[in-house]
Amino acid sequence: MIREIVEIGHPTLREMAQEVPVDEIPSKWVQELIDDLIETKRFANGAGLAAPQVAEPWRIFVAEVGNNPRYPYKPPIPLTVVINPQISFNTEDRMSVYEGCLSIPNLRGIVNRCPDVRVEGRDQNGDLVDKTVRGISAGTFQHEDDHLNGILYTDLVTDAKSLCTWGEFERRYEGDFRESVQEIEARYVG
Ligand code: ZN
Repeated sequence: MIREIVEIGHPTLREMAQEVPVDEIPSKWVQELIDDLIETKRFANGAGLAAPQVAEPWRIFVAEVGNNPRYPYKPPIPLTVVINPQISFNTEDRMSVYEGCLSIPNLRGIVNRCPDVRVEGRDQNGDLVDKTVRGISAGTFQHEDDHLNGILYTDLVTDAKSLCTWGEFERRYEGDFRESVQEIEARYVG
């Protein structure tokens, strides 16, 4: 079922989301919530979607990038479901990237993210997830994880003057940003 995506100002986006008890992962409510997150993310053309964005304060997010019209420069991410994620940084390096968020319509801004992270947690079957994510996709996982801690990317923008609408981004900044993405990918993904 496609759920309504709540927007900045909704209190659930500012809550600490709760851990999902591992023995409840097979239950109907968790499975349906995950299915709904995937369906809603695809419908909205998001790169990721976290449960608090559909007003469900649980520690679950999904990420997936195919041919995404919202993010044409993004490298693909296979469908990844992470329950109770733990993200740790593999490097002290940081990259500057533009982000957007389905809960903050028509806005983009620059944040610093770690370009090489380890993502641990459980998948939809309750099996352990332990993967390394490099390049700008690492930023996507950090963005989704932040949602579980009540943090929005606008809290993290390095310079509020970088905030722009999608139209102005495409018109003025996307060209340079695409080059920067290629450099980041070449350096961290190879
Ligand atoms: Zn978001």
